[in-house]
Amino acid sequence: MAKVYCGACRLALGHSRSLQSGPLLQSDYQRQKHKKHTVVDPAEPLQSVFSDPSTSTIRIEVEKALSSGPMEVDDRGRVNFLTLSVADGHRYESGVRVEVQDVTKVVLSSRTELRHEFPEASARLGQRCCVCGSEIFCAST
Ligand SMILES: [Zn+2]
Repeated sequence: MAKVYCGACRLALGHSRSLQSGPLLQSDYQRQKHKKHTVVDPAEPLQSVFSDPSTSTIRIEVEKALSSGPMEVDDRGRVNFLTLSVADGHRYESGVRVEVQDVTKVVLSSRTELRHEFPEASARLGQRCCVCGSEIFCAST
């Protein structure tokens, strides 16, 4: 089970991140991920898609997640950052819209060329900070 930390506790633990300067998408890998998460493809069994594909909109979400959002450490020790999304998206299954996504999740944020982001549903995440017990999206959005 992944552990989640509120924004205040993760900063107190020294997990700060900033976005590299320059364009949001700097590698072919990031451009592929951006396409996957902005263009609905019925061949994809499962896909989460931003409502607004603009990198300037997505960049605002990424900066919020990295600077002050809650943090998730998954079962494999991977560290992800989250923020409640203002430009939310939807989850699609084989091209059919099935669910609203209310969170933006930023993964691989320590790797400039690999960092990417996608919409996620807060209902699928842990709800309370494993340190202080507060609700992660009340404490730190
Ligand atoms: Zn906390």
